[in-house]
Amino acid sequence: MSTKASLVSGRALSAGAVGDIRRCGSLGAILRPMCRVCLKRPEIPDERHGRCEQCAKAGRVAYRLRLGPARGGAGLAVKAGELAPRLLRQRFREQLEKYAGTPAVKPHLGLHEIELVAAKDRLETIRIASDLKDHSTEAVAALRAAAERTDSAW
Ligand SMILES: [Zn+2]
Repeated sequence: MSTKASLVSGRALSAGAVGDIRRCGSLGAILRPMCRVCLKRPEIPDERHGRCEQCAKAGRVAYRLRLGPARGGAGLAVKAGELAPRLLRQRFREQLEKYAGTPAVKPHLGLHEIELVAAKDRLETIRIASDLKDHSTEAVAALRAAAERTDSAW
């Protein structure tokens, strides 16, 4: 997955489309894009993961995924993501099993979005969109279920 910030469902979005999505977000008023990881410092132009210098140096990455209703009714499931199910499994399955925290609610995330923040493959935090605030348990459960999948695409 080399395309920056490509929230894919089968195929990668063009860089322009990704830019549009980001500009349409709740941070749309800010002209210079902020780092996708720390949300504080400006992004290095054209940085692969949309990061600032410090986050890039620390090897921190924010992977965004989109949730939707799970098939068959109850709960949530991952519908699209910046990393393929197989990679999610490889890198985060065990860490997600152990995860006992509460995801932080972040206004920069769009409807049904969830973000994994990792530093060199170590899971640091999970962030969720405000519409998932009262469904954080289901959201984390959806990530865990997704990390069991071995498919190459969502
Ligand atoms: Zn940063």
